[in-house]
Formats: sequence, structure tokens, C-alpha cells
Amino acid sequence: MLATELIARKRDGQAHTRDEIQFLIGGLTAGTIPDYQVAAWLMAVCIRGMTAEETAWLTQVMASSGETLDLQSRWPDVVDKHSTGGVGDKTSLVLMPMLAAAGCRVAKMSGRGLGFSGGTIDKLQAIPGMRTELSRGEFLDQVDRLGIAIVSQSAELAPADGKLYALRDVTATVDSLPLIASSIMSKKLACRAGRLVLDVKTGGGAFMKTLDQARALAEIMMAIGEAGGVSTSAVISDMSQPEGQAIGNALEVREAVETLQGRGPADVLELCERLAEALGVPEASRTIASGAALQKLKAMVEAQGGDVRALDDPQRLPAAPLRRELAAPRSGYVAAIDAELLGRAAVALGAGRMRKDEPIDPAVGFVLHAKIGDLVEVGQALLEAHATDERKLEAALAAGLQAYTIGEQPVAAPEQVKAIISPPS
Ligand code: URA
Repeated sequence: MLATELIARKRDGQAHTRDEIQFLIGGLTAGTIPDYQVAAWLMAVCIRGMTAEETAWLTQVMASSGETLDLQSRWPDVVDKHSTGGVGDKTSLVLMPMLAAAGCRVAKMSGRGLGFSGGTIDKLQAIPGMRTELSRGEFLDQVDRLGIAIVSQSAELAPADGKLYALRDVTATVDSLPLIASSIMSKKLACRAGRLVLDVKTGGGAFMKTLDQARALAEIMMAIGEAGGVSTSAVISDMSQPEGQAIGNALEVREAVETLQGRGPADVLELCERLAEALGVPEASRTIASGAALQKLKAMVEAQGGDVRALDDPQRLPAAPLRRELAAPRSGYVAAIDAELLGRAAVALGAGRMRKDEPIDPAVGFVLHAKIGDLVEVGQALLEAHATDERKLEAALAAGLQAYTIGEQPVAAPEQVKAIISPPS
């Protein structure tokens, strides 16, 4: 078999066999197929798609590209959650400590930023000293002791996803249903939690722009999860505007902590509560008022080498030297916010990567002061941009101005949760 033949087959719209997928993913993992051929194949998949059968094979082959962990046989109460990606999505930083504080085991493998969306691992790494690459032994031991660990996808677990993820991030091959489904579900099958909830985002700031696309993605991932013995539910959530107010790694950590302190944005809290309900753990919502969820986050950060003082005192988080507000050009109601544009502007500020393995700047991003439905007066701040250089700051403010649509008619704030799909009983 030759990689070029397989790239051509996909380019011409043909379906792969399981052996062909095994050959490609095996070559990628072993380093015998170079990045440029994998990138060409990814683009062909993005354009031509894959059948449900090919997607399931790709997921299984990626899941077994490294070691596997059968978490559910170790801890029957182990739960997991994964988001399909969105702008300002800090849900894992809030929800996972809530679940752990409610008595569930949380042993989660998360990703870095992808395209215009942020990633939990980049956010956690904004906390000084925080380690997200734990050995298998450290990971299991921490979950045993504390009930919670969030780690990055590693060379041990689902390494094929790590390589594909980094390539997709910088080759415009993120927004593909089979690639998203296999990326997420390979990590989930490599760890096999007992119960999994998928946060499938839809709207301008998500990869699935329409509700129908989001439903299709949810259904294919749920079928893969159930076939792999993981009870899988899905919440389809709104991404027609950024989640919460903060976009950018350290800014989002700060907002997640505020949410755990009971003073965060209502949309972030509502989504976390609904995700916990979908997992069958509604009591998790009580862990915010009791302070137990914040304590769990702190315990996890400390165990993974992070500076816990940065959670109590956000001045200790990385901060950008330049901050400037964007004034509303007119009075009226915020009718729309182009979340993808803001996500791309945050990447351009340095919050995400333009090239594989590029360092990111944890401090930069945006804080939104107005969301859809809000009434604003001319001159009132719509958002604040945080940047490290004047030229990038100006570009970010220009993107901010373009992202907001202000109209004369009142507009209702979007529903946070569009649908909940339960696992087959
Ligand atoms: N999260 C992932 O892990 N992979 C994707 O492709 C999208 C979101």
C-alpha cells in the first residue's frame, strides 16, 4: 500500500477499507508517513467526508494507537465529558470539579486549542507551574486520591489523535464531522469511562454551524460510544455567541474560578448544570454554593504542580500589558456577535496557534461587556481587548467592531441548551 494511493482514493471520493485506515494511522503513529501526506489526506477527508463505517473504524484504530485504560472496570462511578469546541468554552474547568465534588470520579483527557476554538489544556497551562502531562501511574494515582485529574492526550494514550489534532489545527481541516467524531471518541474509548456526556456546540462559534449538523455529529459519536460500551448522552448547546464573557486562556481560568465562586456568567453555569443532569448527577449544582467544587479544582491544580494562589488572586495569572475598550458605535440592542471572528482574532493575538507546536500567549484575549439582547448606549464598552503589542491590539479592536451587530429592535438572548439526547435505555 502507498500513502499517495490512499490520498488519491479519498480525493476521488472513494471509501477506505479498515486495512487502509490502519495503514494510514499506523504510519502516522510510527512516523513513517510524513506530515505533508497526512495533511493532504486530512484535506481530502474534509472535502469528501467518510461513511459512518469508515468513521467508526478510524475511531477504533486511533483509540488503539497507544495504550488503553479501562477506567470503568477500575471505578464504576467514573464520568467523562467532552466538547466539540467553541469560542470561550471553559465548561470543563467548572463542570469537572463540580462532578468530582459531587462524588464522581473524573479522569479526563483534554485537548489544546483547535482552529478558532480554545482548548482546556492550554487554559490549564495558563496557571503557573501546572503540569498536564502525567504518566499513566500518576494519572491513576491522582484520581484514586483526589477523585479528579485532567491531563493532555499523551504519547501513551491515543497518540494518533495527538498528531492528527496538531496537524488539523494549522491546516484548515478542523471542521469535518468524521474528523471531529473520531478525534473525540478515540480519546474517550482509549479511557472508557462508565458514563460520558458530549457537549455538542452549534452556531457561528462552533464547527457545526447548524442544529442539523450538530445533531448528526452527536448521533454518530453516541453510536460509537455505545458500541464501545460507554453510556453516552449529548447536550446540544448554543454557540451563536461566545460562552460567558472571557475569551483567552488566563482570562477564561479567571472566569471559571468566578463561576465556581458563584459569581460567574449565567450561561456558563446553566450549561454546566444541564451537562451534570444529562450525566445523572443533578446534585453537582449544589457543590458551587458549598464551595466544594472550587476546593476540588484547587486540589487538582496543587496536585498537578500549579500555583493555587493564582486561583485566589487572579493578579498572579499571566496578564497582558495592553488593554483597551471598544466603544459601541451607536445605541441599540446587540443583535448578533460573530463568535468565529472573535475566536480568530484571539488566535491572532496569540491565544492559539498558527503553526504546529508554536508557543501561545496565555495572557491575551477579550472580555465581552455586552452579549446578545443587551441594550447598549453609544460609547459604552462592548468589549475589552488584552494584547501584548499595539499593532495586534488595533487589529483585535477592529475585529471586535466588525463582530458586533447592533440593531434598533429588542432581541431575545439565545437559549443555552437546544436539545438533550439521552442514551438508549
Ligand atoms: N475536541 C477534540 O478533541 N477534537 C476535535 O476534533 C474537536 C474538539
